[in-house]
This record gives sequence, structure tokens and C-alpha cells, in this order.
Amino acid sequence: MVGENYREVEERVRKACERSGRSRSEVTLIAVSKTKPVGMIREAMEAGACVFGENKVQELCEKWEELPKELHWHMIGHLQRNKVKYVVGRAELIHSVDSLRLAEEISREAVKKKLQAKILIEVNVAEEESKFGVRVDGAEELIRRAAVLPNVCICGLMTIAPYVTDPEENRPIFRSLKKLAVDIKKKNIDNVHMDVLSMGMTGDYEVAIEEGATMVRVGTGIFGERNYGI
Ligand SMILES: *Cc1c(COP(=O)(O)O)cnc(C)c1O
Repeated sequence: MVGENYREVEERVRKACERSGRSRSEVTLIAVSKTKPVGMIREAMEAGACVFGENKVQELCEKWEELPKELHWHMIGHLQRNKVKYVVGRAELIHSVDSLRLAEEISREAVKKKLQAKILIEVNVAEEESKFGVRVDGAEELIRRAAVLPNVCICGLMTIAPYVTDPEENRPIFRSLKKLAVDIKKKNIDNVHMDVLSMGMTGDYEVAIEEGATMVRVGTGIFGERNYGI
């Protein structure tokens, strides 16, 4: 089932790229495997998945340990500063940086491990109370301050759009994130790249691609519903 789902999502990604005149290679499909067992991840791998997203540090570490090292792991969930040490060196990209203090911790850890940490700034475009992320009007300041930290590279922006039944409702959100990235890019801030736009999930990734997403994070569409119960 997972393999079939993955191929279907892949096909939809391809079509969305085609519709919007983009090359398929511009968009990375991240298979969000949180709460799902490694067996299902292996099924996705067999169907061609190689980039996986997790939102819990411990789960990311366990799966990273158990699965082949050629896989790419992204940290997409809220990150506490005391867990940064486990993520730097394992996750290739941290999507969820929304404070200077977190960026500073990532920087310290990256310096210690002598590597470059790639991060995205999470923006709460919809200004939902329940969501993490900086507000649109606070993004530039955070970016300017994080950009001077050693061993950190700001690669772009991420947003989690509201849960909606009609994906069209989120089009303005995706457009706003794209516009913010364009505006920030124009300022030519040292060490800031706006090449990555991580937006779009199971319900709305096609619209996100039409609006310029370069990474889409798809969980349910590939692995099925998550069960947090028991
Ligand atoms: C869980 C999660 C996703 C995937 O959500 P689906 O609706 O299952 O595709 C994407 N992004 C983040 C940050 C998540 O936590």
C-alpha cells in the first residue's frame, strides 16, 4: 500500500510541476514518516523515496540508527534547544527554526561538530495561535540576526498552512510565503539563501507546488492516517 501511495503522490507532484511550467527536479518530495514503523519506511524506499521527515527527535534518532545511511532525514517539527545536539549531524535540514535562541544553539552545536547546519526559518503566515513560527513581519529581523551565526546556513523558509478541506483556501498563504522569500532575497543578506520553500502537505501540496514550493511534506498521503491513540 505504501509503495502504491508513494507512486501516486509522485505522479501528482510531477503533474503539478508540469502544470506550473516547473521541472520535476525543482521539487523535493519529503515522505513524512512520523509515528510510522521502519517497515513502512522501507516500503517507501523501495518505491523510490529517499528523503524522510520526522517531528520528534528521539524517533528521528532511532530511525536514523536503524535504516540505511544513504537516506536523508529532515527535522520538520518544533525543536527544543536541549535536543539540538541530537539533531545536528543527523538531520540534513532543520525546517522549524523560529527563534534566535534556537538558531544560536544549532550554531554552537554545528561549530562543535565542525559541520554546517542547514536551516529554514518557520513562518506562521496564517498567524494561527496554535502554531509555532515567526510572524511575517518578524522574519527579516530573525534572519538578519541568525545569518551572522557561525556554521549555520539559512536556506529558505517553511510554513505550516491551516488545516482546510479545500486546498485553494491555502493558496494565498503559499503566495505570501513565496513573496516573503522574494522580498528577503532582494536584500542580499550575506549567508542567506532563499532557494528552499518548504510548504504543502497531504491536503494541499499540489497547490503549494503551483505557488512555488521546492519541498513538500507528505505524510498521510503516503503512509495513511496516523494513530496517536493507545
Ligand atoms: C505531520 C506533518 C506533515 C505531514 O502532514 P500530512 O497532512 O500527514 O501530510 C507535514 N509537515 C509537518 C511539519 C508535520 O508535522
